[in-house]
Amino acid sequence: MSDYDVIVVGAGFGGPVAAKKCAEAGLSTLILERAAVPGEKVISSLTIPFYGFLFGPSWIRDGDPPIERPVSGIRNFFVKEGKTFAKDCSFRVPRPFGPRVSIGYTTYCRPFCTWLADRAVEAGAELRTSVTAVDVIKENGKVQGVVTDRGEELRSRMLLDSEGLQNLLGIKAGIRKRYLPEVVELCLLLDFEMPKEEIDRVCGYNLEYFWGMPEEEIIAPLGYGSAVYIFPYRESIHMTIGCFLKAEDEVAPAVRTLDAYYERFFQTDRWQSEYAPHTKLRARIWDTCPIYAGLHPEMREMPTFTDNMLLLGDAAGMEAAAIADGVPTAWFSAEIAADTTIEALKAGDTSADFLSRYDQRLRAHPLITALITDPHRRDLKYAAINVSEKEMRKRVHNGWGFGMMKHLTWPVTKAVVGSMWRKPSIPFRWMNMFNRYYKLYR
Ligand SMILES: Cc1cc2nc3c(=O)[nH]c(=O)nc-3n(C[C@H](O)[C@H](O)[C@H](O)COP(=O)(O)OP(=O)(O)OC[C@H]3O[C@@H](n4cnc5c(N)ncnc54)[C@H](O)[C@@H]3O)c2cc1C
Repeated sequence: MSDYDVIVVGAGFGGPVAAKKCAEAGLSTLILERAAVPGEKVISSLTIPFYGFLFGPSWIRDGDPPIERPVSGIRNFFVKEGKTFAKDCSFRVPRPFGPRVSIGYTTYCRPFCTWLADRAVEAGAELRTSVTAVDVIKENGKVQGVVTDRGEELRSRMLLDSEGLQNLLGIKAGIRKRYLPEVVELCLLLDFEMPKEEIDRVCGYNLEYFWGMPEEEIIAPLGYGSAVYIFPYRESIHMTIGCFLKAEDEVAPAVRTLDAYYERFFQTDRWQSEYAPHTKLRARIWDTCPIYAGLHPEMREMPTFTDNMLLLGDAAGMEAAAIADGVPTAWFSAEIAADTTIEALKAGDTSADFLSRYDQRLRAHPLITALITDPHRRDLKYAAINVSEKEMRKRVHNGWGFGMMKHLTWPVTKAVVGSMWRKPSIPFRWMNMFNRYYKLYR
C-alpha cells in the first residue's frame, strides 16, 4: 500500500516542475522540502539562460515568473596589476533586438522557486516544507518511499529525487556515490544593494566577468575556479567567486581563501570607480555546485535510476560545466522524469528495466549532454600551464565571448528544429515571451 503515487524530494528548480506534471496527470503527488520556503536553501540568485525558458516547461515560458532583469550580453574584463587592460564584449544580442530579446534573465531563487512550487500546488500536488527526507525505505532491494527527519515513513510507487548536490537519497538507495571534491566548486557570493539608475549606467543589461592570470590572485587558478562574476538585478548586484574543493595543488580551499580573492578584486580600478561608491553589502552566502560532474567519466556514468526511483537536476549530475547553469538541465530532466513516471505507472511497471528509458532520453536530449560536458572552463588551466595571457584571452573569447556561438549553435539549432517540428507556431510564442518578460521587468 502506498501513501502517494509519487513523492518528489526537493522544491528547488527541478522538483516542482516534475511534481506539477505528475499531479496534472492525476497522480497523487507529494513534494517534501527541507527549507521553510521553497528556494530558500538554493543559492540566493542566478541567471537562467534563454534556452531554459524556450525549451523547458511551456507554463514557465507562457507564465509570469518573478524575473529581475533581462541579460543581453556578457562583458569580459581582463585584469593585470589591478587594472582592467582589455575587454571582450563580443557576445551580445545586437541592437535593436537587445535587451528585448535576451540571452537570459537574472532572478532570486526564493521567489522563483516559490512561484514554481505554487504552480505545482495549484495543479494538485501537496507541498510539505520544513521536512527532510533522511533515508529511503527499501523492501526486497527496491525503493518504496522515504523516511523523514520526523520519523515518518512515507510510501510511494515512484520516488523522484530532486534534492540537489547533497544527493543523500541517491547514495542511500545505493545507486550513486558522493560527488568527488574535484567536481565540486565552493562559491562565495556577495549580494549588494545598488540604485537602479547606477546599475543601468554601469552594467545595463550585461553580466560582467573579470579574468586574470594566477599571479593576479583575484580568482582561483585558471581552470580550478572561474571568473569574478557580477550579475545585475533590479536594484542589487550579486557577485560570485569560486574554487574547486580539490584544485591542482590538492589543497582544499576555505571560504577565507575566497575572501582574500575578493579583497584583491575590491582594489581593482573598475570596482573602485564604478561599483564601490554605489554599493552596500547586504548578504554573504556560500554554496557548492557539482559543475564538473559531467566532465568526470566516473561521475558522468553514475546511474540516474533504479527500481521505483529517478534522479533529476543536480542530484543526477546535470549541472552545466562551463557556466554552472544547472536550471535549464534541471527543468529538462524534471519534465523527462515526470513523463517517464507517468508512463511507468500507467504500464504498471516501475522496474529499473522500464525506467532505463529515462536515462536514454536524457542522453538523447539535444542540449543536456552538450551543456554538462562543455570543457571550456576546465581547459582554461592550459593558459596557466603555458603562462600565456594571450591564450587566456583566446580561451575566454571561445568560452564566454562570440566564440561561444561555435559550440552552442549546433545544439541550440537542433533544439529549435525539434521544437518547430513538433509545433510550427512556436517561434511566435518565443517572441511573445521575450516581449512579455521585458514588460514584466519595465
Ligand atoms: C553558486 C552557484 C551559482 C549558480 N549559478 C547558476 C546560474 O547562474 N544559472 C543557473 O542556471 N544555475 C546556476 N546554479 C546551479 C543551479 O542553482 C542548480 O543547478 C539548480 O538549482 C538545480 O536544481 P535542482 O532542482 O536539481 O536542485 P536545487 O535547486 O538545489 O533544489 C534542491 C532542493 O532540495 C531540497 N532538499 C535537499 N535535500 C533534501 C532532503 N533530503 N529532503 C527534503 N528537501 C531536500 C533543498 O532545500 C532544495 O530546495 C548555480 C549554483 C550555485 C551553487
